[in-house]
Amino acid sequence: MNAPSSSSSSRHVCVLGAGIVGLATAWQLHRDGHHVTVVDSAHTGAGASGANGAQLSYSYVQPLADPSLWLQLPRLLLAADSPLKFRLRMDPHQWAWGLRFLAACRASVSRNTTAQLLALAAESRAAFDLLRTQESLACDFSATGKLVLYPDEASFAGARRQMALQQSMGTSQQAVSAREAVAIEPALAHYAPRFAGAIHTPSECAADCLMVCEALQRLLQTRGVRFRFQTEVTRLVRHGRRIIAADTREGGRIEADAFVVALGTGSHRLAAPLGLTVPVYPLKGYSITVPVDATAEGVAPRVNVTDAKRKVVFARIGERLRVAGMAELVGYGRDIPADRIASLVDSTRDVFPQAGRFENVQPWAGLRPATPTGLPVLGRLPGAPDNLLFNTGHGALGFTLAFGSAQRVAAALGPALRPVAAGLAAYSA
Ligand SMILES: Cc1cc2nc3c(=O)[nH]c(=O)nc-3n(C[C@H](O)[C@H](O)[C@H](O)COP(=O)(O)OP(=O)(O)OC[C@H]3O[C@@H](n4cnc5c(N)ncnc54)[C@H](O)[C@@H]3O)c2cc1C
Repeated sequence: MNAPSSSSSSRHVCVLGAGIVGLATAWQLHRDGHHVTVVDSAHTGAGASGANGAQLSYSYVQPLADPSLWLQLPRLLLAADSPLKFRLRMDPHQWAWGLRFLAACRASVSRNTTAQLLALAAESRAAFDLLRTQESLACDFSATGKLVLYPDEASFAGARRQMALQQSMGTSQQAVSAREAVAIEPALAHYAPRFAGAIHTPSECAADCLMVCEALQRLLQTRGVRFRFQTEVTRLVRHGRRIIAADTREGGRIEADAFVVALGTGSHRLAAPLGLTVPVYPLKGYSITVPVDATAEGVAPRVNVTDAKRKVVFARIGERLRVAGMAELVGYGRDIPADRIASLVDSTRDVFPQAGRFENVQPWAGLRPATPTGLPVLGRLPGAPDNLLFNTGHGALGFTLAFGSAQRVAAALGPALRPVAAGLAAYSA
């Protein structure tokens, strides 16, 4: 397939990946006047964007790589019901990622990452709000805030310290008692004796990421953006300092003026033969979607809730409750072990016993495209071909950060293919 004819001010950009990050990128590039083709080995939202936690976590961006992890690590790795799982694989990429992750578990790195992610999240919120309102996007959006519950005084005190840090960066959050938390979210009444306190962030939102992806696909298709589904990209063809085409398994060669890699956990594999290291490894997680009885008020939450002890998040999307959790460093498989789903069901029954029809839950597994520090890879990598950009590695925050990231990458592409000016341009952890 050849590039559509481009005027001197626009170019044909091929976006690889139709997850939330690829689609947000395609949206921004289309708005900037480029001709866009989106390619995916499956279909829209087939990867991590399918049934994630649904949280637009604009204020709650603390990375997993944090010094507090050192103390928790033995319990997290050894406890049978731990939300964290690690399986050593014969994969040097996994080992390198793990070492870089541990090296990033320092206060200075965590603080720097938090500051950068808060800035990116604020840009993302503004861009998504504009898109949502201008295009009347149907995505079960709600702006009901978020409560993060802490099981004991020690963890609550740690959370208040993190809150103070985030407040110094402009975030509006407050610490509340269990009783005050129930006043904010009555569905927590039953669980109140089991947590010491909560951090309340009134400005947090939720939406169905898959509905956003599908709505974006429809919008883009009606505006002339081309989609090639069931088309796996196997190789980027380099000629000198440029990528001239993407080869696909299905036989076709897609030529374009520029390429944006937004393949989630597939990004590393495609970049490696070019001598580029994209430090993205899958952090597997699971979700269940519970149908909610719309007539029964006060039993299923309307506010986003995170149970910090179980590391499980709850978000209301329309007449469904999305429950997500677990972080497993176990490779690229997307199998769904029954015990992980049973654990999510048990957590939900424990916190919100009357929430919905537990016999009808929909199970799902997804691979978070995680970097060691938690910073995404945006723009050009050092030594990469001039017309090859990346938009990947958003870990547990891809839905939250997609639209700000898309703006930054589109700005990097610009008329003169200049690199992103801000700190996240070239990943350097
Ligand atoms: C359990 C769980 C809960 C989460 N909760 C939240 C949350 O509450 N809030 C939040 O902000 N984020 C959350 N996330 C993270 C978020 O879902 C991801 O960061 C985000 O979906 C990543 O989007 P993406 O477009 O980069 O990747 P993906 O959605 O994975 O998209 C990548 C696409 O690339 C395609 N692809 C891969 N390789 C190739 C190839 N070689 N050729 C062609 N196509 C290819 C895939 O088919 C896929 O469609 C969660 C993730 C998980 C797993």
